[in-house]
This record gives sequence, C-alpha cells and structure tokens, in this order.
Amino acid sequence: MSVAAGGPTVPFLDVAGITARHRAATYLAISRVMDSGWFVLGRECADFERAWAGYCGTRHAVGVANGLDAMWLLLKASGFATGNEVLVPSNTYIATALAVSNAGLTPVLVEPDPATFNIDPDRVEAAITPRTVAIMAVHLYGRCAPMARLRDIAARRGLKLFEDCAQGHGAREMNGTSRTGSLGDGGAFSFYPGKNLGCFGDGGAVTTDDDDLAARVRELANYGSARKYENRVKGVNSRLDEMQAAVLSAKLPLLDEDNARRRAVAARYRAGLANGAVAMPADSDHSEGHVHHLFVVRAADRPRRDALAAHLAAAGVQTVIHYPIAIHRQSAYAELGGLSLPVAEAMADTVLSLPMGPTIADGQIDRVIDAVNSFRPESF
Ligand SMILES: *Cc1c(COP(=O)(O)O)cnc(C)c1O
Repeated sequence: MSVAAGGPTVPFLDVAGITARHRAATYLAISRVMDSGWFVLGRECADFERAWAGYCGTRHAVGVANGLDAMWLLLKASGFATGNEVLVPSNTYIATALAVSNAGLTPVLVEPDPATFNIDPDRVEAAITPRTVAIMAVHLYGRCAPMARLRDIAARRGLKLFEDCAQGHGAREMNGTSRTGSLGDGGAFSFYPGKNLGCFGDGGAVTTDDDDLAARVRELANYGSARKYENRVKGVNSRLDEMQAAVLSAKLPLLDEDNARRRAVAARYRAGLANGAVAMPADSDHSEGHVHHLFVVRAADRPRRDALAAHLAAAGVQTVIHYPIAIHRQSAYAELGGLSLPVAEAMADTVLSLPMGPTIADGQIDRVIDAVNSFRPESF
C-alpha cells in the first residue's frame, strides 16, 4: 500500500476486501465444483439461475458469459430487423451501445436528465422514429432509471423495454418494491468483479418473465442449440460456467447487506461533503432504491475536475471517471461524431467517482470527505 499525506491510500474499490468477506462460503463453493468434475452447463448454473430469478422477481434467469452478451442476446433473441433503432442513454458505458451495434441494430443516443444521470423520458419520446423497436434503459451508477415513465412510453408506442442492469443489482424504483431486471421486457446483468454482485472473472445473466424470450436466449447462448447436436439457429458460446455460478450463489446472500452498506457510505458522504466547487449527486429523494454502484460528484468543468482528481490523488484518495469520453466522441463510433449531445459531453468533462463499496471504513470515508472539502479550485 502506498502512503500519502494522512495515511495509506484509500482505494477506489477494494475487490480483495470484498472477496475476503466471502472467503469461507466461496472456498466451499469452489471445492464443491472442483470435486464434482462438471464445469459447464450443470447444477451450479441452474441453481444460481433459480436463485437470481427469485431475487429479481422474474420467472426466468439465464446465465451467460458477461453483461455485454446478456444485452446482445436479449436484442438478438427479439428478432428485430437489421437497421432498426434502439434508444440508449448518451452517457452510458459504451457496452450498451455496442450490444445494439453488434446485434445489427442502430443505437440512437438519448440525453440524460443531468440531475439523475439517467435517460430523460421526454427526450426518449422525442427520439422515437418509425424504425425504433426498443429502449435500453440503464440504471446508471446504481440508481434505477425512470421505469414507470419508460414503461408507459413503450406501451403507447409499441416498443420493447429492456434494462442494462450492470450497475443496478437489487435497485428499485422510487416507492417501488420490484427490483431491476423485472421492470421491463428483459434485464441484462453483468457479474464482472467490480459490480455490486461480482464473480471471479466474467459472468452475466438475462432475466425475463417471457418464456419464449428466455428459451431463445438460452438457445442462442449455447450454439443455437436447445437439444444437444441439434442446431436450430446460428448461435454463439456465451455461458456462465459452474465455477462462476457457484461463487455467485455463495455471495448472493450478502448482496442486500452490501447494498445497504453502500447506502450508508453515500449518506456519510452526503452529510460530510461541503465544498461549493463540488456538486453532489441529487438522490436524497431516492435513498432506499438506490444501490450506489458509484458515488459520482461533479466539478464546474474539465480543468477543475482534473484538478480535483489530482488534489485527491495527492491526498491518497483514488478516483475514477465514469466516463471520460462520450460514446459519440469515441473513434469506434466515428459515424456519430457529428452529433451534438451537450449533456453527455458536460458529464464526460465534469464527473468524478469517489471511493465506494461495501467494505470502505468510516475513517476512510472521512479522509475522502476531508480531502474533497479542502479542494480549492481557484488555486488551479
Ligand atoms: C459493466 C457494464 C457493462 C458490461 O458488462 P460486462 O460484463 O463487462 O460485459 C454494460 N453496461 C454497463 C452500464 C456496465 O457498467
């Protein structure tokens, strides 16, 4: 551990610490799989799928290889015609757009509400064209997207509504009891190690109440085969292996506790952060349903955001930017380069994610708070 002024570095995310919390249960799970001699498409995956569907409140969960695949499979299994449009937030992680592109569809970037960081339903409505077939909502940073309004739009305009739940495991709508993954026609989860529920490598899942959709996803993810050596469609290999499924089953019982701890961390930040040059996320109206995958503050502009990050680094506080380059500014999406999306561009310039996780100690949070509060933008 490196030592900066005031003590050891406060890591952005302590994956080793989170893993250690589950040491006994995960050791048992791993040795159970090892001793079984069965590593792909077995009981562990089926057991986790049942547990995950139960947690999310859906009829089905299908384990897949990662979050990108989960989204891609949902779109592919829906049978949309090539070139149709899917509405995605302009400030999301690029995977959301890539899933659409990789399914032969066109991502249409829709600006977020700057107060919530989530897709703006009014702008969704305005972006619908005769080619629009679906909305891919993202529960960005752990805050549930405005699903009630999006469901209403999707129903009125004849669109499918999907959820990118990679940052929203267990999140709920304001005043809602249902969890993400059950709030539209299908949910896509990532279990990448840094997510609120993470495995020891890559993993993902699709959740849905739709029997046919679940069956088509399962078939596509297993070479297009529902019965061994009988291939009805051209599929891919995208499966959640037994080792990852067993680790997830071992960790799932602590997810709600972890999310509650993340809420407590956010509350402590909220109570302590007091610097006019650093804007806090506006989520006081949404404390219970928010799972705080990230705690994202904003500075006035890019130079001051970068100065804040440098000031925190000097004080031993690690930060990350989610995300520094908007999708339409990426060379991968050169075809969208002409777009002007001022909200997404402003977010890329100004956001900064502070250390967040279920194992961060109060003393570490207070060190982050002191470091933020001592930032003086005018000296940069
Ligand atoms: C992590 C993430 C993904 C991708 O998940 P992988 O498992 O890494 O493919 C997709 N969307 C969002 C919003 C994410 O944060």
